[in-house]
Amino acid sequence: MAPTVNQYSMQDPTKQYPGPEFPRQPQPAPGLAQDMKPKPDHGETSYQGLGRLKGRRALITGADSGIGRAVAIAFAREGADVALNYLPSEEKDAREVVKFVQEAGSKAVALPGDISDESFCRQLVQESVVQLGGLDILVNVAGKQTHVDQIADLTTEQFEATFRTNVFAMFWLCKAALPHLPPGATIINTTSIQSYQPSPGLLDYASTKAAITAFTHALAKQVIGQGVRVNAVAPGPIWTPLQPSGGQPQEKIEKFGAEAPMKRPGQPAELAPIYVLLASQESSFVTGEVYGVTGGNHLP
Ligand code: NAD
Ligand code: MG
Repeated sequence: MAPTVNQYSMQDPTKQYPGPEFPRQPQPAPGLAQDMKPKPDHGETSYQGLGRLKGRRALITGADSGIGRAVAIAFAREGADVALNYLPSEEKDAREVVKFVQEAGSKAVALPGDISDESFCRQLVQESVVQLGGLDILVNVAGKQTHVDQIADLTTEQFEATFRTNVFAMFWLCKAALPHLPPGATIINTTSIQSYQPSPGLLDYASTKAAITAFTHALAKQVIGQGVRVNAVAPGPIWTPLQPSGGQPQEKIEKFGAEAPMKRPGQPAELAPIYVLLASQESSFVTGEVYGVTGGNHLP
């Protein structure tokens, strides 16, 4: 049954979702959406599909929670089968996503594992291709963000782990996926407003996001000859477990989203339609592009 309020219902966007103050809510990384207060909206009750991705086969990383979960739900309701990657510790969130995908009538393939490992990335693509019968869409959403105030306290271990998760994994997954992608296929990366307006306490994270932006521009030019488009989405502040699980200090969680002209954080559900557009043939002349979803703090 179609939801009565969906992503097309007209309303005041500034009042559509809650704004600060929020309660402090520390969680160990990577955190669970289930334990957030208030709970994020991933479009569970609202996203209405129109068959825009009918028959497509997609691999989505970070698909258990936040933006990746909203993308998984939307893709399934648009008619795509999806392979879902996440960390094993996130199984509780992931089970809910699998259920939503199946309820949409689509195939859900759960493939937990750590993408900071190159051989796992190759296996992840291989397993997705085998279980989905091919691959048409790669969506790189998984990311690591750990706030550290001073460069003196930023360890080599963290700097490397952030780059392996955010940049190297994207490189390994794109490289493994490209030989399987037919003309018309798409890759969507997830960068950030941090790529353009970096926060002082996110030195490593912001640097990875700038790398993702440049990688997207360059890869798009490289692979368009294969008929594959590559784009990125750059979110502003979004209400997901990434933030209270170490992405921001807890005092910033209380005010999260206050600096956006909309005076609130975005919800994962508000990102999904852009990923659907970039995945579908509707955006056929769009490649090498970065779409901001920032609540008004525009790019670059
Ligand atoms: P999220 O915590 O819900 O999603 C991040 C996911 O990354 C986790 O669910 C986890 O499954 C995955 N992940 C992390 N390390 C991994 C690893 N080693 N192996 C496999 N998976 C791993 O948070 P989110 O905010 O939805 O984040 C999704 C993307 O959006 C990230 O790339 C993030 O940088 C980006 N982003 C978020 C915001 C924001 O304000 N929330 C803003 C800009 C960009
Ligand atoms: Mg998660």
